[in-house]
Amino acid sequence: MTMKILITGGSGFIGSSLIRYLLDELGNYEILNIDKLTYASNNSLIKYHENKNYNHEKIDIVDEKSLREAFLDFQPNFIMHLAAESHVDNSIKNPSKFIETNILGTYNLLNISLEYFKKLKPEYFKFHHISTDEVYGDLEKDEPKFTELTSYNPSSPYSATKASSDHLVRSWTRTYGLPSVITNCSNNYGPYQNKEKLIPTIIMNALNHKSIPIYGDGNQIRDWLYVEDHAAALYKVLIDGKNNQTYNIGGVNEVKNIDVALKICKILDDISPIKSKELQSYKDLIKFVDDRPGHDKRYAIDCSKIKRDLNWSPREDFDSGLLKTVKWYLSMYIEGI
Ligand code: NAD
Repeated sequence: MTMKILITGGSGFIGSSLIRYLLDELGNYEILNIDKLTYASNNSLIKYHENKNYNHEKIDIVDEKSLREAFLDFQPNFIMHLAAESHVDNSIKNPSKFIETNILGTYNLLNISLEYFKKLKPEYFKFHHISTDEVYGDLEKDEPKFTELTSYNPSSPYSATKASSDHLVRSWTRTYGLPSVITNCSNNYGPYQNKEKLIPTIIMNALNHKSIPIYGDGNQIRDWLYVEDHAAALYKVLIDGKNNQTYNIGGVNEVKNIDVALKICKILDDISPIKSKELQSYKDLIKFVDDRPGHDKRYAIDCSKIKRDLNWSPREDFDSGLLKTVKWYLSMYIEGI
């Protein structure tokens, strides 16, 4: 029997990496990608449009009627819910879209999933909610890493809406018996990430000889995970994760934002030296700017549970993953994309 996976947000940075992983490396899954195609989506899945195991429906998950029709027509065995508004700065400027997509959209998906699970009684069903470590808030330099038992303490409208969606998923499992699993992951990087995020901004501004903005003193620490490692972890949890469990996913790569910028500038100096009379190195473009309001200081994930229980570990280390990523953006830049 071919299992059917309904993926929301499959045209985004992580969703598209996940779909490429499922179709290229695993096969044998029928995928329906429900994605509204916001500015954050990318076109890397166009190559699958002839693939009989892949379909895309341009639907807003806030539109319950269209979502229900597509869902009931497809009759999935698994839901992987990634659709979200995901950029913290946008959530500070305009939180309403985050409330709609991240909370109301999740509520719609849960309601439809439950109705389907109870009425049609599929042989196999699991709702996998994809979330962030930002729900835990932030850490001081010496505090222990986030575990699955860390209390929620979100700082931004983005992380508050993701925290709300996590709570909704848990309550649908506890109250109504919907089989679900939640993953909370650290910062991802890799090809196809939208240019608004930190690593693409640093690379693209450097290549365009524009100033590279670093918030505050640049000492904020993030725990970076290569996106393909995240995709593999999501699949492990989907198949082997236990219902009603949470799994933290992290890269075990705590790096200060300023050091991320310096590493990228060094890679670019090596592989595409700067051609400018005024500048010696890309790092001369780094400029410290006013800090983001409520900026989290440090994220660090303890991912020992997924390592122990599901035998998953990240494959890519930060230096090799960053080199691949910079090379990918450089080739896009050269092709003028
Ligand atoms: P993204 O912003 O790159 O992609 C989001 C996708 O969702 C886009 O393709 C967009 O078109 C779609 N979408 C947005 N609103 C929608 C709506 N109302 N209806 C249907 N589709 C809609 O996000 P991402 O970085 O790929 O993140 C995916 C998920 O993973 C999110 O839930 C995010 O919270 C979570 N996450 C991201 C990171 C990270 O570092 N990027 C880390 C941990 C968890």
